Amino acid sequence: MNIRDAEIVKGLLIDDGFRIADDGKGSLDAVLFVTCSVRQHAEDRVWSEIGWFSKLKGKFPTGTLPIIGLVGCMAENYKKEAFKRMPGIDLVVGTNNIGEIPRLLRKAFEERQGAGEGRYLAVSKKERDEFVYQPAFREAKDNSFVVISEGCDNFCSYCVVPYVRGRLRHRQPENILREIRVNIDKGINSLTLIGQNVNSYECNGTDFTRLLEKVDSLEGLKEFTFFTSHPKDAARKLFTVMSALERLKKYLHLPAQSGSDRILGLMKRGYSRKQYLSLVEAYRKIVKNGALTTDIIAGFPGETEEDFEATLDLLKTVRFNGAFIFKYSPRPHTRAAKLKDDVPRDEKERRHRILLETQRKISRELKDK
Ligand code: SF4
Repeated sequence: MNIRDAEIVKGLLIDDGFRIADDGKGSLDAVLFVTCSVRQHAEDRVWSEIGWFSKLKGKFPTGTLPIIGLVGCMAENYKKEAFKRMPGIDLVVGTNNIGEIPRLLRKAFEERQGAGEGRYLAVSKKERDEFVYQPAFREAKDNSFVVISEGCDNFCSYCVVPYVRGRLRHRQPENILREIRVNIDKGINSLTLIGQNVNSYECNGTDFTRLLEKVDSLEGLKEFTFFTSHPKDAARKLFTVMSALERLKKYLHLPAQSGSDRILGLMKRGYSRKQYLSLVEAYRKIVKNGALTTDIIAGFPGETEEDFEATLDLLKTVRFNGAFIFKYSPRPHTRAAKLKDDVPRDEKERRHRILLETQRKISRELKDK
């Protein structure tokens, strides 16, 4: 989502007459950080980068600091606090306010010319305007991300997404198909449909499987995939459609997060280990040779050795093609942040390492098969 957001911001700026200096060369007038709040580590890196840019005062041709903008999830997470935390910041623009960036940047430049120190805050908009998806600019020439839904209503106890990206909204199917058509006409004939939970897509009588069918029927499309699915909303019907559609890649990312029912309950995931395993079984039965990947969190509050062993066992039982395995870190606003983060750091690292090593071995074995 953030890669696509950064691309959208670039597209909006280009359409407004700005020039993008990705390489940092030439006259650098503004630096925008399109940020992620999913883990503490990602936020720490942004604060440190902004700190680095803030120290460059006087080293730029204009003799001033470039305008610095905090965009996306961290902007929603910190809102006006961000100005206090990092005084070098001029713009704070939330995930659903990104359409305002060109106007705010111009205002900030005008303010600078008048020797002012204007700071602009644009956050908390409930949803994006459709026009933000329309800029022609695309970073990659062979594959594109196409947003089908925004936000999330699931409120998993560890996750900050519903608080920073807002409640679940779906784009109109016609707008999605039009965007894909434009891309295909430009020669981008491979795409990934994205959303926090694509399976719950439903708009004007088009559900997710119907949307997949409509996309599959577009002339000129070579292949497509989707990302991310929630186990509580993925169903046999999806697998049947996946198996039937010619251009849809036989690949499913199905985040398990834990193999322990007790931890899944604390995470408020809405499924049990047994239900997850039966979904995997149905997927493998229906989608022949379908690839499967997952997400796992190591060291969730209260995770015992027994819970950890259950997750390790899940990896060994399912034998995923790949897994994104993360160490738990408490996120603001979330219910899990109120629980005691009681798995010691060393222990989190040990569990994370064992899970990673196990998964790497399985991935290698499956690749060499
Ligand atoms: S489904 Fe859960 S983990 Fe995924 S974005 Fe929504 S709240 Fe976060």
